[in-house]
Amino acid sequence: MCRDMPPLEQAIQFHGHICPGILMGVRAAELALKHLQLERDRDEELLAVVETDSCGVDAIQSILGCTFGKGNLIFKDYGKAVYTIARRDKGKAIRIAQKFNPKRSPGFDRYRELDGRKDLTEEEKVERENLLGQIFESIMTAPWEDIFDWREVDFDFPEKAQIRRTLQCSRCGEGVMEGRAISIEDEVLCPSCYLDKGGQ
Ligand SMILES: [Zn+2]
Ligand SMILES: [Zn+2]
Repeated sequence: MCRDMPPLEQAIQFHGHICPGILMGVRAAELALKHLQLERDRDEELLAVVETDSCGVDAIQSILGCTFGKGNLIFKDYGKAVYTIARRDKGKAIRIAQKFNPKRSPGFDRYRELDGRKDLTEEEKVERENLLGQIFESIMTAPWEDIFDWREVDFDFPEKAQIRRTLQCSRCGEGVMEGRAISIEDEVLCPSCYLDKGGQ
């Protein structure tokens, strides 16, 4: 991915489409960069805890460089548009929560309705695109305090990712990371074989 691309474009390219969610994520990522006084491209120092797995997280990954693969993206399945971004070198973290009722562009509900349907007429498709344009404008120009609440928080920095041993599952023969393998009786099982066996 081209690092010189503006953050917005980078996020949209990574996500694959423009939608209100990715735009809100872009705004959250920008707020984090500003608050933590970071340039982009400093991802090795950053850690993100995200409480949702929807569109906005792709902005956190593409703009802040916090990804599963690097181990600096932690997912908590809470169903909340909340992002905590921490800067390891300064020991500083900001928790950004999308407001429950952010000021929305007037056409937002109509956009949602159209976007959720598969049988749009040509006129409705044009209407949807126009509404998305308005939403784009309103999200990207909104003052941060209209869309987010944020505060600095204490953050427990986990140890840097360490290499774990790989064990072999006694049933399927596939490798499984130590720490995820389950030992019962004289078997070592991967989680999927364990579940197949009727474990809880
Ligand atoms: Zn999306
Ligand atoms: Zn297995």
